[in-house]
Amino acid sequence: MSQKPIYLDCHATTPMDERVFEAMKPYFCDRFGNPSSVHVYGWEAESAVKQARTIIADAINANPEEIIFTSGATEANNLAIKGVAEAYFSQGKHIITVTTEHRAVLDPCQYLASLGFEVTYLPVQSDGLIDLQQLSLAIREDTILVSVMAANNEIGVLQPLAEIGSICHEHQVLFHTDAAQAIAKIPLDVAKMQIDLMSLTAHKVYGPKGIGALYIRRRSPKVKIAAQLQGGGQEKGIRSGTLYPPQIVGFAKAVELGMGVMETESKYLLQLRGQLWSKLKSLPGIHLNGNLNQRLPGNLNLSIEGVDGAALLLGLQQTVALSSGSACSAASTAPSHVLTALGRNKKLAHASLRLGIGRFNTTEEIATVAQEVAATIEALRQANHWQPKEKRNEEISNPASAVSGKR
Ligand SMILES: *Cc1c(COP(=O)(O)O)cnc(C)c1O
Repeated sequence: MSQKPIYLDCHATTPMDERVFEAMKPYFCDRFGNPSSVHVYGWEAESAVKQARTIIADAINANPEEIIFTSGATEANNLAIKGVAEAYFSQGKHIITVTTEHRAVLDPCQYLASLGFEVTYLPVQSDGLIDLQQLSLAIREDTILVSVMAANNEIGVLQPLAEIGSICHEHQVLFHTDAAQAIAKIPLDVAKMQIDLMSLTAHKVYGPKGIGALYIRRRSPKVKIAAQLQGGGQEKGIRSGTLYPPQIVGFAKAVELGMGVMETESKYLLQLRGQLWSKLKSLPGIHLNGNLNQRLPGNLNLSIEGVDGAALLLGLQQTVALSSGSACSAASTAPSHVLTALGRNKKLAHASLRLGIGRFNTTEEIATVAQEVAATIEALRQANHWQPKEKRNEEISNPASAVSGKR
């Protein structure tokens, strides 16, 4: 095993762009200051953080003072959901979210439920999108927060943020969106989309791990947030802890690069995905999970009949690094909660592949992956004596071929 497999797991994390690394370098040893310090070392770091904050704010049409740096989207989601719950509980204890959210949204909600909050989990339609009318109907007098993700980390579907924002605004309920997969990949505009809180992370967009942000609206309405980390009072007291300039500078560089190439990169990724999908959909018994059009350009998620999910991953692991539809945590073999929410049965939810194509993948790589995935599926199906449905129906009407098919 000299060569590593082709990386096609960009929803788990992306390779860091070299240009991001270059931008970060000076802030480790040379410009090492603490942005809170009141001397030239501090000012140097503070000025870099300020610039980064502006770049990130601009990318979502927010103001710099509305950006609170966190350790990533997990922390941003926790801060948004628990912070709003704690600040607004006297107005109501009802929260609305969606069954297909990331665990970093579902688990804080579940935690709040254990404290006496009430959580409504909206189902999704078979294409992964929520029903807006269902959302309107779920909002109550005591609803304080609606949390719906921008782009799904398994099936890539894009929820209708502007429509959701408008419904929330109309009912005067706060709208939080987890945009970990969306920042600098699809257009985001907190003003136009009427978003009150937005979670961001750097490492899904070719930036470093361990850095993210929460956007918190400051005007109409001014969103109140109860701090979840107390200490030195950094980030307006909302998130204490010494800021980490290399990570923050890297985050901003990644966002800046992403914004600069958003359109051309989307086209490129769509082309690669089309190449992969057109090859794989020529096989029988392959099901696309999630809406094909309302979707991140680099995402493909497939359920495959006639194969075992674990065997498929094992068969592919030398060639391609990707993930399957079983829960992300390695220890768990439960089928994905996202795929079961689409109505996929356990078997199909299990026998699935999540392909996350990114900036550094090439046409040649995609051709190799398409070839290998198809060959592995065919080999496993042969071993399982699997036949496509139409054939099996034929067998029923033609006993002779049914016998030969049994071998
Ligand atoms: C990756 C991801 C997270 C977690 O982000 P971290 O920065 O790794 O904590 C949260 N939500 C979604 C949708 C994600 O894809």
